[in-house]
Amino acid sequence: MIAETRGPVRTRYAPSPTGPQHIGGIRSALFAWFFARRHGGQFILRIEDTDQKRTVPGAIEMILESFDWLGMDIDEGPLQGGEFGPYVQSQRLELYQSCARQLVDSGHAYKCFATAAELSEMREAGGGYDRRYRDLPPQAAAELEAEGRPGVIRFKMPLSGKTVGQDLIRGQVEFDNTQLQDAVLLKSDGFPTYHLAHIVDDHYMQISHITRAVEWLPSFPLHLRIWDALGWDKPLFAHLPVLLNPNGKGKLSKRKARFADADGTSVPVLVHEFIQAGYLPEAVINFLANIGWNFGDDREIFSVAEAIARFDLKDVNPANSAYPIAKLDWLNGQYIQAADCAYLAGLLKPVLENAGYQVDEARLRKVAPILKVRLKTLNDVVDMAGFFFDDWECFAAPAPDILMQKKMDVEATRRVLQAAGPTLASMKDFSHDQQYLVMKALAKELGFKNGQVFGTLRAAVTGQKVSPPTFETMEILGQAESIRRIQLAEASLNAET
Ligand code: GLU
Repeated sequence: MIAETRGPVRTRYAPSPTGPQHIGGIRSALFAWFFARRHGGQFILRIEDTDQKRTVPGAIEMILESFDWLGMDIDEGPLQGGEFGPYVQSQRLELYQSCARQLVDSGHAYKCFATAAELSEMREAGGGYDRRYRDLPPQAAAELEAEGRPGVIRFKMPLSGKTVGQDLIRGQVEFDNTQLQDAVLLKSDGFPTYHLAHIVDDHYMQISHITRAVEWLPSFPLHLRIWDALGWDKPLFAHLPVLLNPNGKGKLSKRKARFADADGTSVPVLVHEFIQAGYLPEAVINFLANIGWNFGDDREIFSVAEAIARFDLKDVNPANSAYPIAKLDWLNGQYIQAADCAYLAGLLKPVLENAGYQVDEARLRKVAPILKVRLKTLNDVVDMAGFFFDDWECFAAPAPDILMQKKMDVEATRRVLQAAGPTLASMKDFSHDQQYLVMKALAKELGFKNGQVFGTLRAAVTGQKVSPPTFETMEILGQAESIRRIQLAEASLNAET
């Protein structure tokens, strides 16, 4: 049995700033964050920018914005500071260099002077690096050094035996040392590789649990050996399953994932794509938490606080999961339905504004409650309810094909509109409940189905086939405006025919 915690829990997310934040990384970060919060510990953001060629300007800001949007607070990091900083690896080069020197001095690592030509020869011969500088006599190494020959520092991996590690999710894992190469720890430009840098940082930042993608599992034995060679106590490890494409084949792509077995629909994979697509952060968190972990009790919907109270790394399923993106719309719809109206209105406002509407907040507060059960994403508000925010004076009656309901012709539609206008005008109480009763009676009187009458009115007052409920809509438009629109529809029908 592996002890679950040792001292204060400190977990970290350690992305390379190579572009916009991918959802797979956030899923790993979420589990680390849940775990830290569950144990009253700290969650640290560390930027791993040692591969300077891949570093993209602005990526750190995008990572921070993603955390902000999701409401995942960071205790220590490049922006937040903290007592173990700096939290950006390119600002810690001397520390890595001195640890690499320490490993060389203690005989656990060596300077390798292999040239690019030598390395490519080895590759062509079909093998990896053949360790030709591993046992160079110190004198010869000193001479090459004196010549100014560039070199890297490589770790001396044991040449036989096994390395055994413990993983909180996978239990004991064993590796044959002969399968491992003498990995580079420090490059000739003085930058460390991931292998060295993350260990040095996880040690000095006092990380208690390393949670990272299972792709790092093959390097785990190398890392365990480096920890030992440095003489440091190891943290605990959890290699997290990764997300696969929605069809279950291959790792979820870095760019737009595609349903390879369906119609090529693109799905969001970057955090900003979720924002742009109109998803709620709490729905996205809930969605991600359900991948590779489950709340139990057959519950798919739970709050962040509930997840934190239950989360345990050892309950994470080791198997990689297909990206269940098809569930997100449903989940998002559930969150919209449950949302507080004022909060929802606040989320809808910028969406409408981005679509070019001038948003009257008082009106939006009336509209938000009637949209709740109909929106899958926030963006749906534009098509569904944008008409509320158009200039009412410019409202134009819809074309006959929108006005005419199933099994109705122009004449029948005209009869409904002609009768509805004066009936609605005679109402004292224009509440939607009353409208419903009155229009139901009218349908009966005219010999139409409720749906035919209600649908005709919907089209007449909204100009659309799909909208929020008709009577709630008319209540918000008001009696005079609703009747005006019904008259406009009637007139346009007369003009057309
Ligand atoms: N920078 C590494 C990556 O992005 C971090 C892996 C880790 O969490 O240790 O894959």
